[in-house]
Parts: sequence; C-alpha cells; structure tokens
Amino acid sequence: MTTQFAGKTALVAGGAGFIGSHLCARLLRDRMRVICLDNLSSGAAENIQDLRQGPALEFIQHDVTETLPRNLHADLVINLACPASPPLYQLDPVHTMMTNVVGTNHLLELAAKCGARFLQASTSEVYGDPVVHPQTESYHGNVNPTGPRACYDEGKRAAETLCFDYLRQGKVDTRVARIFNTYGPLMRPTDGRVISNMVSQALRNRPITVYGDGTQTRSFCYVDDLLDGLLALLRHPERVPHPVNLGNPFETNMLDLADAVIQLTGAASAIVRMPLPKDDPRRRRPDISLARELLGWKPKVPLTTGLRRTIDWMSGSSWIKPRPRRSAPRRPFAAAELAAD
Ligand code: NAD
Ligand code: UDP
Repeated sequence: MTTQFAGKTALVAGGAGFIGSHLCARLLRDRMRVICLDNLSSGAAENIQDLRQGPALEFIQHDVTETLPRNLHADLVINLACPASPPLYQLDPVHTMMTNVVGTNHLLELAAKCGARFLQASTSEVYGDPVVHPQTESYHGNVNPTGPRACYDEGKRAAETLCFDYLRQGKVDTRVARIFNTYGPLMRPTDGRVISNMVSQALRNRPITVYGDGTQTRSFCYVDDLLDGLLALLRHPERVPHPVNLGNPFETNMLDLADAVIQLTGAASAIVRMPLPKDDPRRRRPDISLARELLGWKPKVPLTTGLRRTIDWMSGSSWIKPRPRRSAPRRPFAAAELAAD
C-alpha cells in the first residue's frame, strides 16, 4: 500500500467494526486520510477511539441506507458496512438486506461522483451451503433465498451484482473480495460468532457451546492476513472484473476448534451441544488460487498463533472478567499448528 495512496482519502463504511477498525488503523499508518462512516449497530466507538485522537481520521455516525451526507469526497470507497455475525444480521433482517442493497448503491453513487476506486466486502456466504468443495469463484453457490440467512447471503449477492454492473457500465472501478471467516483482536466477545463465543466462554470457564454435532467445518483467517489481501486487491493496477476469494484454506471442524480454545486458554470448560441453526453451512474452505496468482497473496498466520493473539486481547479486554487459568495446557493441539496452506 504505502506510497501509492499516501495523502489520499479513503471512506471506510463500517469502519468502527472489527475488520473496519483494523483497516482504518492500517490506512492511517499508510499516511492516508480516513473518513470512517458507521451507524455503530454492530461496531463500537471504542474500536476507533485512539485513531480519532489524530487529525487524519474523521468519524461520521451515519446509516448507509440513508442518503449520504453531502460534500463527501474520497479517492477510495471501501464498503464493510453490514453486521457479519449471524445472530446480529438476523436481528433486523430487512435492514440487513437494505444495508447491502440500498447502502451499497449509495456508496457506489458516491464513488462514481468522486471517480473513486471501490472495494466491496463480500463473503463466502454467497456460496451458501456449498456442494462444491473447496469453493472457487466460478461456483455460483447454493443459497436458500427464503431462509433466515438469506437477508445476508442474498443481500451480499445483490451487492456483488451492483458492483459488477457499475464496473461494466464504466461508472466505477469496483473490486469485490469474497471474505471467508475472519477473526482476531477487536471482535466483540458478545457478537455471537464462534471464535468470539468460544474464547469468551473459555476465559470465564463457562461451557463451550458447539452447535449441532460439531463436525461442520470453517476455515479461519487471521485479520492481519485478510487486510494484506484486501489492500493488495485495492492497489492492483488493472481492472478486476471478477470476485476474489480471500481466506485461509486451513479447514477445521467446530469440535476441534473448541478443543484448541480449551487447550490454549487452559480453561476447565466442558463442551455443551446446542441445536444447529437452520441453513448452517456444512463445510467451507476457500480455493485461493486466484488470489495467489493475481495478488501474490496467501495467509501467513497459523490458527494457533491467531487464536493466542485473540485470547490475549480478549483476556485484557474490558468486556471480559477472566477467571484464573490453569498453569499449562493439558496437551498440545497438533492439527491447528499446521501452517497456512
Ligand atoms: P462487524 O459487524 O464488526 O462490522 C460491521 C460494521 O458495519 C459495524 O461497525 C457496524 O456498526 C457497521 N454497520 C452495519 N450496518 C450499517 C449501516 N446500515 N450503516 C452504517 N454502518 C453499518 O463485522 P466485520 O466482521 O468487521 O465485517 C466487516 C465486513 O466484512 C462486513 O460487510 C461483513 O459482511 C464482511 N465479512 C466479514 C467476515 C468475517 O468473518 N469477519 C466474513 C465475510 C465477510
Ligand atoms: N457455532 C458453534 N458455537 C457457537 C457459535 C457458532 O458451534 O457458539 C458454529 C456455527 O453453527 C457454525 C460455525 O460455528 O457452524 C461458524 O459460525 P459463525 O457464526 O462464526 O460463522 P458462519 O456460520 O457465518 O460461518
């Protein structure tokens, strides 16, 4: 990133969220001006509190479904606005859908007006409950359009459609990243996603909740790796007329994840089973060949390293009041020590 965009302005919608606040920090380090626009629904002002001390970050509390404030100008528009946690995006499903469709359109209009490059945070959820494994960008997915996850999945699919229509019409240079499960410090312990839940439960020695039989899989990417991929896509010198998967191909099931969290925290937590939510995808793993070839990108942080950093952050976070840990892990967690593919 560094010099290419130094001195330019990036508008980050959803910039007070988990990924957004990391991204704002990174852009500021790259000497950009940042406008963080967020309605603070699933994000938090504390995430960007330190960044707001400097003059280079402006925060605007605003909902992207509403007409954007006048006189905004940006050289880059980055759209991360949307709750990513299933319980949170299902709280107000109509608003989630509108955030993705109306909100994305508002931001694309702004980018068109300013001549800005546009980056869309799409998702592996566009593949739904995939029957092709691992998932390549050419796979069109298996989404239930009427189920409880559809507000997010179909909203994100529609947002991708808008991006590629603006691109084909020559209005905006759009880039679409299909982000797979990402985790790290600054995830709200209460946001309901699996790593937030398991780590916060373990730090309090509470039972670890595994939904269903726990054999469903996900592939977790550490947030710093994801940022490298997003920024590489953003600075790519040519048009990118197709989506790009960004994720860590190391795949794990939820029972093994629970085990890893228990080992790494030294918690005395038991595992409890909870019902599997409707339409919960059975398995998910990105094929990142395209990102490797196009961007020279691949994730570097192994799951155990990323989990340790997340645990360290969460145990010091004001959200959690940890109980004493056992002195040493019971046994090593070999599977997750595997390096990223
Ligand atoms: P997050 O919920 O922490 O952040 C989303 C941010 O968007 C929050 O700050 C929230 O307040 C804001 N927001 C939501 N609706 C808004 C609206 N209508 N107007 C303005 N702001 C709004 O989630 P995250 O994990 O940081 O995800 C960021 C983006 O990346 C999301 O678009 C998500 O769909 C996408 N993504 C994330 C993951 C992941 O695993 N974290 C995976 C795939 C895609
Ligand atoms: N999950 C779980 N325990 C939890 C929360 C989630 O076993 O406390 C499971 C969930 O059913 C899913 C996986 O973990 O199979 C990932 O869930 P998350 O909500 O983090 O992300 P997504 O389903 O959107 O990939």
